[in-house]
Amino acid sequence: MRLRVRPDAGDPACGLRGTAPARAVVDNGRSKTAPAARAVRRPLTAERPGTLANEQRDTAPDGERPVGVPDPRPADTARAPELQADCSSCFGLCCVALPFAASADFARDKRAGTPCHNLQPDFRCGIHRRLRDEGYSGCTVYDCFGAGQQVSQVTFGGVDWRSAPESAAEMFDVFPVMRQLHELLRYVTEGLGRPEAEPVHAGLHGERTRLERLVGSDARTVLGTDVGALRGEVNTLLVRVGDLVRAQVPGRTRNHRGADLFGARLSGADLRGASLRGACLVAADLKGADLRRSDLIGADLRDADLSGADLTDSVFLTQPQLNAARGDAATRLPPDLSRPGHWAAEADTPGRQRTDRAGRPGPGPKRVRPRRARPRRR
Ligand code: SF4
Repeated sequence: MRLRVRPDAGDPACGLRGTAPARAVVDNGRSKTAPAARAVRRPLTAERPGTLANEQRDTAPDGERPVGVPDPRPADTARAPELQADCSSCFGLCCVALPFAASADFARDKRAGTPCHNLQPDFRCGIHRRLRDEGYSGCTVYDCFGAGQQVSQVTFGGVDWRSAPESAAEMFDVFPVMRQLHELLRYVTEGLGRPEAEPVHAGLHGERTRLERLVGSDARTVLGTDVGALRGEVNTLLVRVGDLVRAQVPGRTRNHRGADLFGARLSGADLRGASLRGACLVAADLKGADLRRSDLIGADLRDADLSGADLTDSVFLTQPQLNAARGDAATRLPPDLSRPGHWAAEADTPGRQRTDRAGRPGPGPKRVRPRRARPRRR
């Protein structure tokens, strides 16, 4: 198990469970230019070079698609700048606001609201280039979906928590709420980009308008949001999106919604159009699996092996899910996601260490087969 603390984990019923590990960090250590002692105000529209997201994109090609086969998932689904982490416009909020626990992913404990000891005065990470080597691989997995710069530059108007310590506590409270709102926005945006989901586009437009209004509100309004209720309403539409996309696959498709598939042997499995909403796929063997048009919202893919798997037009797959998994150059990705840089490095490392459910180094997970639903007795 890679991560133990998930303070902003969503409702599994919504499929948001496990979409991102506990906390912290999306920082390339190079691009944070905001000085600690003065306020910074910048527009949030321009995509700046040097953020982690950009770095991944620059160094990792997207999944390939056979010639002549259209990809129904638009390339710009998750590339809206406001839905991508821009660490250069953030006050290191994920490195301060969120807690983490010493584990396979974090070298030590940190309490919420306390700056990580590696955070520099200029909000850069002091060990950015050595995160994995220094025991902070969890930091390379986290993604705020653009919530960091929204809170820093919009909600708090570019005034950072060091120069205005009286607003620090509120800023740290707003951040995890904003992250959930941005994650919802990201899913809604993807749904609007899927032509198969046209029957629910009107509803999605309405939800996007509502969410955009919310994320642009003041801190008190954001904190007063009933995110659980909101998520439930949005989720009704997201479920429909997934079903409409999955319905494009002929024949019967698998339903593993919320299933415990920890360590499952699914190598080469035909999972086209499967519902894997909120499924626990931690350490699952998905090598060479066909996951096209599968619904992966909230699926926990930590340490899942996606080598050679085909995820090209899967639904609601996010970059943090990919970052938490393993894969290789043969893994086929949706065009809006990037191949994590650490995949190549891990592929070169013989005998990658496996962990048990508690995150302890060990012989690896117990192998289980996915359960089939039994017919009910009358
Ligand atoms: S090690 Fe600390 S400062 Fe660096 S990215 Fe992780 S939480 Fe942020």
